[in-house]
Amino acid sequence: MSRFFNPQLAGLAPYTPGEQPGVKNLIKLNTNESPFPPAPGEAGAAKSAAGSLQLYSDLKAAELIALLADTYGLKERQITVSNGSDEILAFAFQAFGGGLKFPDVTYGFYPVWAELYGLDAQIIPLHEDFTVDVADYLGNDRCVVLANPNAPTGIALPLWAIRKIAEANPDQVVIVDEAYVDFGAESAVRLIPEFDNVLVVRTFSKSRQLAGARLGFAMGNAALIDDLNRVRFSFHPYNVNSLTQAAGAAALRDPGYFEDCRQAIMETREWTKAQLEALGFRVLPSSANFLFAAAPGMSGAAYQQALRDRNILIRYFDLPRTKDFTRISIGTAAQMARLIDTTKELFA
Ligand code: PMP
Repeated sequence: MSRFFNPQLAGLAPYTPGEQPGVKNLIKLNTNESPFPPAPGEAGAAKSAAGSLQLYSDLKAAELIALLADTYGLKERQITVSNGSDEILAFAFQAFGGGLKFPDVTYGFYPVWAELYGLDAQIIPLHEDFTVDVADYLGNDRCVVLANPNAPTGIALPLWAIRKIAEANPDQVVIVDEAYVDFGAESAVRLIPEFDNVLVVRTFSKSRQLAGARLGFAMGNAALIDDLNRVRFSFHPYNVNSLTQAAGAAALRDPGYFEDCRQAIMETREWTKAQLEALGFRVLPSSANFLFAAAPGMSGAAYQQALRDRNILIRYFDLPRTKDFTRISIGTAAQMARLIDTTKELFA
């Protein structure tokens, strides 16, 4: 830290993203990316957008937002887009997070933004089995933030639970981070026409094969979306570049590819879960594109290192409640077969 760094931020512990090694031949199951390439039309769409890069990107992201509105049955003014969903979450924390409430085991960026923006965060422990106690989020004076499915557990809350939380907090925004919802959970998008306090945040990084393009979006009541745009226009109006807008639109024009990829991930997830359980692992029920699993008689750190030594990357979170576990992203069927074979060798 230089002597010029703002002393108010001196205590900031930045978020640690999963490793992005420049090494080939690794099986990369550590950052919940899709193992599949982008939809076939995306590269062409981005290439043709590249011909106009002398111009700023479309501030309104009109084509992309029209397609999103169509896809999710909403009006254009109920949607805004961002540079990955991390950005829109950060905007939402600034806009609505005078006080915040979220679980102790959840997306590790939430406490970092709270610290960065000087917001007061109340951290609520999950149950012993890593499920959310809905009663903890009823009737409070804070913005609620729930990843659904949760990360890194993969456990999803049913829609009735989100509805109950939204109903019980009419004067607070309930941010539902649905980064992984396409892998088997119920979306809160359906609550948007009914509740003016539900903000749903999504990403193209997981189920739409575009992590590197950085594209996220938020859906909610038009007034909430206006507020987010107020923050966006106070920070970086051209936040989604032209290539990404074109690639995102092409992804939405190919619902068949999206469907095939997410079905493949869900099937492979269930196969992997059964295999790990047969080897004695404790595996939490997942509605996401990853599994949170504890190896029998081996710490999470040791299992991660043993796989790392064998060219397979998974993620370990060095926190008291999660130290037995690792988070394993779901890759292709062949990659997961390698993970299982390697794990069998380890435990032989
Ligand atoms: N929310 C959750 C729960 C996540 O795990 C992630 C990915 N790390 C994000 C949001 C952000 O994803 P992105 O910025 O790539 O859209």
